[in-house]
Amino acid sequence: MTKANCLFCKIVAGEIPSDTVHEDDLVYAFNDINPMAPVHQLVIPRQHIASADDLTEADAELLGRVFAVTASLAAAAGLPDKGYRVVTNVGADAGQSVDHLHFHLLGGRAMTWPPG
Ligand code: 5GP
Ligand code: ZN
Repeated sequence: MTKANCLFCKIVAGEIPSDTVHEDDLVYAFNDINPMAPVHQLVIPRQHIASADDLTEADAELLGRVFAVTASLAAAAGLPDKGYRVVTNVGADAGQSVDHLHFHLLGGRAMTWPPG
């Protein structure tokens, strides 16, 4: 399911190039174009889902895959020893700028809490 004019649907379809770090039948992952940490990757479903606000129990398999892939990418980048962050922004107040569900994998530096 592809949504017209969705940037990340176009990336999944290969219409816009990306620096891919993982792809399988459910999930696609690539380096963020404007990294906020030494490691900053985006893990997204291939299917168009606008945000985490639209998830239901029917997405259990997809979400299991998202987090398994994220853990594997973190391990490949050597992040688990020191720690890392997985973030999904939902809506305007959280700063969501692309309306296709995505999980930020951020690591390689110490981070503050709470986020701004
Ligand atoms: P959000 O602000 O919605 O949580 O995150 C969107 C992320 O997508 C941002 O970190 C932004 O840098 C990234 N991004 C936006 N456009 C592109 C693009 O064309 N290619 C890549 N690789 N990342 C993008
Ligand atoms: Zn999309």
